[in-house]
Amino acid sequence: MSNSEVRKSDVIIVGSGAVGNAAAYFLALEGLSVTVLEKDTVANGASVRNGGQNKMNTRGEPELSLGMYGVNEIWPRLMEELDIDIEYQKVGGYRNALTEDEFENMQKFYPIAKKHGMHIEYIDGKELRKRVPQFSERIIGAGYCEEDSWANPLLTTLSLYSKARSLGVRFFDHEKAVEIETVRGHAKRVITECGHIYEADKICVAACFGSRKLLNSVDLDIPFTHALCEIFVTEPVPYMLKEIFIGSKGGYYGTQTPHGSIVMGGGSRIGAFQREGNHVEYRLTPDNVPSGIKGLTELFPSLENIKIIRSWSGWHDRTPDDMCCIEGFQEVPGLYAACGFSGHGFGISAPVGKVLSELITEKKPGADISRLKFDRFIPIDAFSGDDRVR
Ligand SMILES: Cc1cc2nc3c(=O)[nH]c(=O)nc-3n(C[C@H](O)[C@H](O)[C@H](O)COP(=O)(O)OP(=O)(O)OC[C@H]3O[C@@H](n4cnc5c(N)ncnc54)[C@H](O)[C@@H]3O)c2cc1C
Repeated sequence: MSNSEVRKSDVIIVGSGAVGNAAAYFLALEGLSVTVLEKDTVANGASVRNGGQNKMNTRGEPELSLGMYGVNEIWPRLMEELDIDIEYQKVGGYRNALTEDEFENMQKFYPIAKKHGMHIEYIDGKELRKRVPQFSERIIGAGYCEEDSWANPLLTTLSLYSKARSLGVRFFDHEKAVEIETVRGHAKRVITECGHIYEADKICVAACFGSRKLLNSVDLDIPFTHALCEIFVTEPVPYMLKEIFIGSKGGYYGTQTPHGSIVMGGGSRIGAFQREGNHVEYRLTPDNVPSGIKGLTELFPSLENIKIIRSWSGWHDRTPDDMCCIEGFQEVPGLYAACGFSGHGFGISAPVGKVLSELITEKKPGADISRLKFDRFIPIDAFSGDDRVR
């Protein structure tokens, strides 16, 4: 492609993770021409490095409507529509408490969850161990959430990509978007690092922590930082449970695969990566392993001597309130963004993609996203007039 050539489509999406690919897929179903720009290659970001869990029982209320839209409508629909089995399952999940205070606090979520149609029951430690005998005697009680669910992150991201491609979406790898250009205030072009120009009436930024810098090019700022988090996989152990498990204070979480390995994430948040020349290796450092094992054996003491056989880590985008931003910007018409997922965006990636397609095609979103707007981070005194109500 020469630098003077302009590639045109109805919509440009920046970022080919689960969110960008889901948006591309749903927009293509609406008959729009879609271009996706990816700075590396498809399936290399947080969407293929995560634990695959949708932990509804630990989500903040502003994200629950999206979560339920996903559980009730979007994930089951993808299971039907995508050509590859993404292994989505509403497996349920146990959120565990080690102290009476924690158990009591956890239950404050009940009325909020009920309002959103979630099904949660609180059970004491005895009942928990009746259901899953391997859980520790130290666990006082747990909240069981029927809507907690799981999907295979790699298969989901790749199958959205391949289905979107089969519907005509054009993906361009190694195209790092560096600037958004406006025409008469309206988002119009994306310029890439190689100097290529892409043009569309609608531009959607779904570039995880890369979103902040790109949005800065049109003077918009969502104040998230990027953080590294880890996943580790253990050797297979006898099958214990199909449900997701979440440790005390939400620290560690995991799932047991059908062949017995435990896939676990969360924890130390020390953040580990090693730089070898120009190559960045994402992996768990030895320092983090004992911390991970401690989290696991806190829940399952019989796993004290379990071996970790594989690990990896990845970056994610963390906002000050740990809640994502989904926007159609009033400040720059034609510009949309979904970012700041704060370590729990995979579970809502598919419904977020659907909602983005609804915003872009000017339909009523299927989920309430009114509390996920970016201006919640702007101090009130930053607004000059009284025309903005937060
Ligand atoms: C170790 C780990 C465990 C996690 N566990 C869970 C979990 O169990 N459940 C859960 O719900 N969430 C989890 N998450 C979070 C979840 O993975 C993310 O919130 C989610 O995948 C975000 O999807 P995304 O499409 O926005 O980002 P990504 O998958 O990172 O995709 C963004 C893409 O944009 C590209 N990009 C960036 N900048 C540019 C640019 N300037 N131009 C072009 N392309 C660009 C990147 O290369 C990337 O491919 C975890 C994250 C990590 C790292």
